[in-house]
Amino acid sequence: MKLLENKTAVITGASRGIGRGIAEKYAAEGCNIAFSFASSVEKAKALEEELSSRYGVKVKGFQSDAADFTSAQTFIDAVVAEFGRIDILINNAGITRDNLLMRMSEEQWDEVMNVNLKSVFNLTKASLRTFLSQKSGSIINMSSVVGVMGNAGQSNYAASKAGIIGFSKSMAKELGSRGVRCNVITPGFIETEMTAELGEDALKKWTDGIPLKRGGTTDDVANACVYLGSDMSTYVSGQVLSVCGGMLM
Ligand code: NAP
Repeated sequence: MKLLENKTAVITGASRGIGRGIAEKYAAEGCNIAFSFASSVEKAKALEEELSSRYGVKVKGFQSDAADFTSAQTFIDAVVAEFGRIDILINNAGITRDNLLMRMSEEQWDEVMNVNLKSVFNLTKASLRTFLSQKSGSIINMSSVVGVMGNAGQSNYAASKAGIIGFSKSMAKELGSRGVRCNVITPGFIETEMTAELGEDALKKWTDGIPLKRGGTTDDVANACVYLGSDMSTYVSGQVLSVCGGMLM
């Protein structure tokens, strides 16, 4: 028996990077997947076809801005109409707009807060009725070690990721009695397009500070998501699991 057999997961931002890695692992574990993306239409189509043909699960991509309240509702309504249920919601979509506070524009602040934090409110609220009527569900929110440690040049990003932790613990308390769990993953330095923007020097500085002396892979994060989405973790809620090679302890 596969770990996620007969479950349906919603993953935001799965056309690339960590979200894509999660979709691959979830499909391999027998999960049906509805995922969203912002603009990568071709990549999303390719992922849909690759996963459904390789693993025989149902996979559908939706172009939907997670930062927009109404779009999130429309996305979730379409998922429920097509898949019938939602067992796992993974709020993964995220962006960076780095700058020292001195130079940070209001736009850079708002964009990051809306895509990273408001999206979590949007998608969770939109899925709530489904979770409550099923009396079960697992919500996994993608924060970052930066949300716990802070990082110079990333005050907007750090604030959005710290906000996710407070929101998630509140959801664990609000929804626990209804059989719905909510946990957070704080990835450390994971090799994706988001981190590829950093130069060689910054990269070395990061890895030097990691006890396991390497950047993480999307598989490292996806494995944690399999655990938190599966029935292996039915007594785990309100927790922050760091997947960071020991960077944060
Ligand atoms: P990435 O490679 O840049 O991919 C971002 C994904 O989010 C893409 O699929 C993108 O879609 C989607 N997306 C962006 N804005 C969106 C929006 N408004 N609505 C819907 N989807 C949107 O990023 P990543 O490195 O995989 O990061 C994934 C998550 O992990 C983020 O929340 C990030 O903050 C967090 N994280 C990453 C690291 C790391 O080291 N990489 C560390 C800690 C935390 P398009 O392809 O259409 O643009």
